[in-house]
Amino acid sequence: YFITFEGGEGAGKTSVLDRVYYTLLEQGYDVLKTREPGGIEIAEQIRRIILDPKNTAMEERTEALLYAAARRQHLVEKVLPALEQGKIILCDRFIDSSLAYQGYARGLGIEEVYAINQFAIKEQMPHLTLFFDIEPKKGLARIESNKERERNRLDLENILFHERVYQGYQILLDKFPARIKVVNADQPIEAVEKDAYDCVIEHLNK
Ligand code: C5P
Ligand code: MG
Repeated sequence: YFITFEGGEGAGKTSVLDRVYYTLLEQGYDVLKTREPGGIEIAEQIRRIILDPKNTAMEERTEALLYAAARRQHLVEKVLPALEQGKIILCDRFIDSSLAYQGYARGLGIEEVYAINQFAIKEQMPHLTLFFDIEPKKGLARIESNKERERNRLDLENILFHERVYQGYQILLDKFPARIKVVNADQPIEAVEKDAYDCVIEHLNK
């Protein structure tokens, strides 16, 4: 199963993914965790280009294409072989991030960004996607208090941008109701972890 974790900044998806991963391991599941953009060397290199604070000249379509390129390589090198081996893959961000950030928030159009991503992933959509739902304002407040966070070019974005990202995800919830499940991320991390874990297990037992 290919399971992706999605949401805005400070939704806690990375920490929750980590915890769900270790719980699944303890329960004896064959599970792998990875992230986007990145997860393998070529895609981590592309990630550094995208997020480099010096690259202020990065244009929206260039950015969308780089994300799609990183996605392709990561999918082929890491996700598909793991799927082939019957593993559960937990991936921090995937196509929905591109649709919400580049497609909607940056205004390229969800359909256009979907088209280049279809070229990149060739029908390999996630089997399940968890959307970590928290008001953008609350999410951002969480990151402010987390000083260890990696700083990047996108820190320059303002609250309005993150509101648009959130709206973008709402559109995706309507577009892919069977695939995307909402997890209330505005609770203590233990509760978010439990809800996310239950969602995953429910899907595995379907
Ligand atoms: O997943 P993480 O929060 O580490 O993402 C790193 C950065 O990349 C974030 O600032 C996120 O907003 C941004 N991003 C983006 N478009 C994507 C994926 C991530 O702007 N498609
Ligand atoms: Mg994260």
